[in-house]
Amino acid sequence: MSLPSKINTSIRMSVAKRKLESRKIELRDGNPLEQWGLAKIKNDIKNNKELKELFGQKEPDKNDIQEYKLFKFRELIAYALENSPYYRDLYTSADIYPSNIRSYKDLEQVPLTEQEELANKPYHFLCVSRKDIAREFTSSGTTNMLKRMAYTQGELLEIVDSVISGLKMAGMDSKADTLQIMYPTITATWDPGLVLSKACDLAGYSSVINDSMDVHEQMNTIKEAGTTIIIGTSSFLYEISKQIRELVKPGEMGIKRIICSSEPLTEDMREEIENAWGCKTLRQWGMTELGLANAIECEHQNGFHLNNPDFLAEIIDPKTGKILPPGEKGELVVTTLRRKCMPLIRYRTRDITSLIDEPCNCGACLDQRIGDIERLVA
Ligand SMILES: [Zn+2]
Repeated sequence: MSLPSKINTSIRMSVAKRKLESRKIELRDGNPLEQWGLAKIKNDIKNNKELKELFGQKEPDKNDIQEYKLFKFRELIAYALENSPYYRDLYTSADIYPSNIRSYKDLEQVPLTEQEELANKPYHFLCVSRKDIAREFTSSGTTNMLKRMAYTQGELLEIVDSVISGLKMAGMDSKADTLQIMYPTITATWDPGLVLSKACDLAGYSSVINDSMDVHEQMNTIKEAGTTIIIGTSSFLYEISKQIRELVKPGEMGIKRIICSSEPLTEDMREEIENAWGCKTLRQWGMTELGLANAIECEHQNGFHLNNPDFLAEIIDPKTGKILPPGEKGELVVTTLRRKCMPLIRYRTRDITSLIDEPCNCGACLDQRIGDIERLVA
């Protein structure tokens, strides 16, 4: 890289760094992911006249956040009607307007977005001009359908911000920890390892990538980098854990947290990994279409905490489309409340789970979490 472009990159890095809300969250303030979400919501309220009138200066409680999300949903419907060829056609023919949505029950009127539609005509979902796209990703996800997603620079930064908040919630402390990223390169259709490493750079966290299946190589990297937290796909970490169990005692490698992502993790697998390393293992859930880092467990392992300000989650009966109450199992349907490039509205994830409405033992109490996740069998 030439000197001028190096300087440019570092200026861009420092500008981006300042925009990261997650860097301002102190660990002592409560659940970092919830605090980060709250800070973003409060910023939105401060900068929007209607929201300001609705909520005033008071600290938003759980009901306010539900109201805020409905407001953002209506705003998104209006935006999609204006900018997305796909949603304009869909909503015009279904007679859907922002004013239809007065309560959560009203969401049922809004047609669901099927994964096939996104796979078949991705650019019909695009709401900005091509020159505003910073990056595009293609992923088959879990359903073998190739889906193309585009993000603006600002959205990529928001994703980085949510990744950092999630890592903070998982116990990462910028000064003391190093994250070892163990994604096998073969699955990296959207480079989750690189996204993570970039996120760490921006937030001032230390990270190292090693995708080797050789347990000795992984152990060497752990020692050399002083790794304290590991993240990778569930199956990869499970295999490495079975090998490490034969070589070292639990706790000997100094790992304090393991994060399993991209694939389901059974309780038996979790137990095996925790016994091998002698530390808690947290599950993370995300979809490329939704921006990868969508929900993660806290150390209490009591459901996945969602990135609160980014998503509106619903559980529906996959056969009837009826919205189900918290605690009942059904298909997870997600709306990306803040995306401007390719927002998805009532997107069917094909994952089966339930909403948890009670506060978590970590103190988070402002939003719902999602429970164990199973795949929907068609
Ligand atoms: Zn929690």
